[in-house]
Amino acid sequence: MATNTDSTLIKRVRLEAQLAELALEDAQSELNRKKSQLTVQQFERSLDELATYLQHEREQELQDRIAEVNRKAAQLAQIKALAAQHTTVPVSGADMAAFVADLGRTLDVAWDKEGREIDQAESRRLYDAAFRRAYDRQHPGGYDHCQCDGHRSLRREPR
Ligand SMILES: [Zn+2]
Repeated sequence: MATNTDSTLIKRVRLEAQLAELALEDAQSELNRKKSQLTVQQFERSLDELATYLQHEREQELQDRIAEVNRKAAQLAQIKALAAQHTTVPVSGADMAAFVADLGRTLDVAWDKEGREIDQAESRRLYDAAFRRAYDRQHPGGYDHCQCDGHRSLRREPR
C-alpha cells in the first residue's frame, strides 16, 4: 500500500516528467523556428545571387549594344570622311569608278575588321561563360548560321 510520502514522490516524478516533456517541446519548436529562419535566409541569399546574376547579364548586354552602336558610328564616320574627300560630284566615268573603288576599299576594311572581332569573340565565348550567354543570344545560329556582318565576314561570304 502506498504511503503519503510515496504518492507525493510519484506526483513529483510525474510533474517533473511533464516539465521535461514541455521543455523538450519548447526546444523542438525553437529548433523548428531556427530551421525555418535558416531556410528564409538561404532563400534570400539565393534571390540576392539571382538579382546579381541578372544585373550582370543586363550590364553585359548593354555594353555589347553600346559597342555595336559605336562600331556602326565609326563606320558611318569613315564613309562620311570619304564622301567629304570627294568634294566634287563625279563628272566622268573614271571619277565615278575611282569613288566606287575608294568606297569599296573602305567597306572591305570595315568588313574584315568585323570578321576579326567576331573571330576574337568566338574564342572568348569558349572560356567566358557570362560572355557566352549574352553573345549566343545576340548571334543566333552561331558560327555556322548567324547572319550578322561579323559572322558573314568570318565565313568569307560576300559583303
Ligand atoms: Zn553573329
